[in-house]
Amino acid sequence: EKEYLMLPGPTPVPPRLLRALSEPLINHRGPSFKRLIDEVTEGIRYAYQTKNDVLILPSSGTGGMEAAIVNFLSPGDKVLALSIGAFGDRFATIAQTYGCIVDKVDFEWGTAVDLNVVKAKLAADVNKEYKAILVTHNETSTGVCNDLKGLSEIRGDHPALILVDSVSGLGVMEVKTDEWGLDVIVTAAQKGFMIPPGVAFVSVSPRAWAAYEKSTAPKFYWDLGSAKKFLEKGQTPVTPAIPQLTGLREALQLFREKGREAVFAKQRYLRDITRAGVKALGLKLLADDAVASAAVTAVWAPEGIEAKAINKRMREAHNVVLAGGQKKLENKIFRIGHLGYGQHLDVLATVAALEMTLKELGYPVELGAGVKAAQEVIMSRK
Ligand code: PMP
Repeated sequence: EKEYLMLPGPTPVPPRLLRALSEPLINHRGPSFKRLIDEVTEGIRYAYQTKNDVLILPSSGTGGMEAAIVNFLSPGDKVLALSIGAFGDRFATIAQTYGCIVDKVDFEWGTAVDLNVVKAKLAADVNKEYKAILVTHNETSTGVCNDLKGLSEIRGDHPALILVDSVSGLGVMEVKTDEWGLDVIVTAAQKGFMIPPGVAFVSVSPRAWAAYEKSTAPKFYWDLGSAKKFLEKGQTPVTPAIPQLTGLREALQLFREKGREAVFAKQRYLRDITRAGVKALGLKLLADDAVASAAVTAVWAPEGIEAKAINKRMREAHNVVLAGGQKKLENKIFRIGHLGYGQHLDVLATVAALEMTLKELGYPVELGAGVKAAQEVIMSRK
């Protein structure tokens, strides 16, 4: 039976990409691979809006985050880690693991980074000791998006690098790497780019390369200097995930054909439909409209109903797969992913199933109320 995979990654894979994922393998030290990696690199640059180097790693997103730490920092470096959820915590933990002195600022889960707090932190750093600011672009655990442009403006001429986890943001929401002066941005394949997990990408600004030269953190598999040297001859240091790269080439081609703006507009549209439907059922959302993610919507389970019971019923009775809450939000929220391959009727079906699920679990809903509100957003689209 058809399953609705409404997760914030992995997402369903469009048939055109599935075909590209099953192309015959090629020699990763030969000329066809050089063409492949050159095309993929150019496609990633378009998505990132950058002229910086972008390097591809054979790993999930977390490997890319680890690369961002070990290549540009050293044990004993002071970093400012901004966390608004589980993935912000993870970034800080990786820095700590490699011996950085982490000044971690936690913001309430469901809110965005308060840039005034960052401003005060940087102003208090009179000796300019922070070597980097760690930030999550789109916090998947709460459905909140941070203002990267605003953060970059606040950094001003402070020398700290901005290292960004945009694993679930890039390809879904705008990131202007060069215009916003973002030094290192990490993303992964299974979110906005809609291919199976297994490759991560990291962009590196000239300032970040200067920091690389000074970095003493241990690195081998994650050594981006080595990746850059190999890329110059059209190769990667280790045997690459070739099917992922042929899939990615097609995904990036698709992204270009549609155009960045159109993709981002569609993602915002799916977010707006989801939020209208859920709100009309009287449920509370974690994120305010102003900071709401276009990739995922996090919803509080109503009083007296376990979030896990909602997800279980959604899956078993309606074949709709949602994500749960992580860490301190476990069993308190459920999350609806609406990034990548999917369209308005997938979201509408999810809202319809949610209405029935809530009613079945004893929460008072008027059947059709959420669907109607969602349909009104669809009908009002110009
Ligand atoms: N950061 C963010 C914002 C994420 O959403 C995820 C994946 N959910 C990760 C990091 C980790 O990526 P991976 O699971 O691919 O290692």
